[in-house]
Amino acid sequence: MNSIFIQEPGECFLCKQEGKRIRHTVLHTHHIFGGSNRKKSEKYGLTVRLCPECHILGKHSVHLNSKTMKSLKETGQEAFEAVYPDLDFRTVFGKNYL
Ligand SMILES: [Zn+2]
Ligand SMILES: [Zn+2]
Repeated sequence: MNSIFIQEPGECFLCKQEGKRIRHTVLHTHHIFGGSNRKKSEKYGLTVRLCPECHILGKHSVHLNSKTMKSLKETGQEAFEAVYPDLDFRTVFGKNYL
């Protein structure tokens, strides 16, 4: 399904969180919960669009920085719990990030 996060065209989820208003021409789709949970991220819309810098290139990018990764997973779990109040996050994803 589509992401449960509403983003404007050209908007990077992490740049916006930092208050940067940049219109990117290239955005990647990042699965908040990867590996064996990647398909579930897709199923529940737990994906965000990120600029290449925030995704894989920058030193604070989600794939290079464990703090950024952790913070995005917390955001993902919070959003999941808000959107799917009848589901238990831990049962679905096997771990609690909060
Ligand atoms: Zn960005
Ligand atoms: Zn990614």
